[in-house]
Amino acid sequence: MTPEPAPSLRQLLAFYLDAGVDCALNDEPVNRLLDEEIVAPVQTEPREAPAREERRRAPSPAPRPGATPPSPEAAIVSAREAAATAPTLDALRALMEQFDGCALRATATRLVFADGNPQARLMLVGEAPGRDEDIEGRPFVGRSGKLLDLMLAAIGLDRSKVYIANVIPWRPPGNRTPTPQEIQICLPFIQRQVELVNPDIVMTLGNPATQTLLQTREGIMKSRGRWTDYNTGTRTIRAIATFHPAYLLRSPAYKRMTWMDLRAVAQALEALPARTAN
Ligand code: URA
Repeated sequence: MTPEPAPSLRQLLAFYLDAGVDCALNDEPVNRLLDEEIVAPVQTEPREAPAREERRRAPSPAPRPGATPPSPEAAIVSAREAAATAPTLDALRALMEQFDGCALRATATRLVFADGNPQARLMLVGEAPGRDEDIEGRPFVGRSGKLLDLMLAAIGLDRSKVYIANVIPWRPPGNRTPTPQEIQICLPFIQRQVELVNPDIVMTLGNPATQTLLQTREGIMKSRGRWTDYNTGTRTIRAIATFHPAYLLRSPAYKRMTWMDLRAVAQALEALPARTAN
């Protein structure tokens, strides 16, 4: 049998990226194949971090020194209490920047709060930031974001006319699925964000955002394209779900149904009376 040729560096990197390994959590790699005794002692000297890395990490304030993370139950209560006190979107963002109840904040580069127009009549809610969003600090700027822009353009909208946020505002490491606990901890923040934006319509993108925000157990195949009521806390607005753009990139056949959902939103926006000031 001919031995397989050793993979090139490019192939190895592609393998790691496919496996979701696309960010370094330590400055030094750890060789877990070595015996513990012969592993070189961890370098304690502070190393000079590259300037670019420093810039990217700068916006996330460090967790309080010596602070033990709260239990998930305590974190949910504190997220609820904190979110309820935020009188504006800016205040909500500031409070989330400081919130240390969600472990995702420690591994993400920064908070990905929102993009678009806070006065918009349509608010879109996705699941969680990915790698590109984590770098830029804006939701939906990667490949699925590009598709989302095209979807919006198809009904005459762009980011100046919609507001976009995610259920989870910090990137889960390696883009893993957020845990139910992480979702519950972050839920009060997105709920308050919807309440403060006060759109006429909220559209959820994909299954996790739909199940979380619209409180349904149905899968996206059933829940999409169906109008439902969403209580923001101050009023009831219309909500509708559609497929996540990342799913559409993998399964373009569902673009047809997404188009129908987008048309439904465009028609509802036309039919609803122009929004009154907050
Ligand atoms: N997927 C999401 O759900 N949100 C983003 O911001 C990017 C990709």
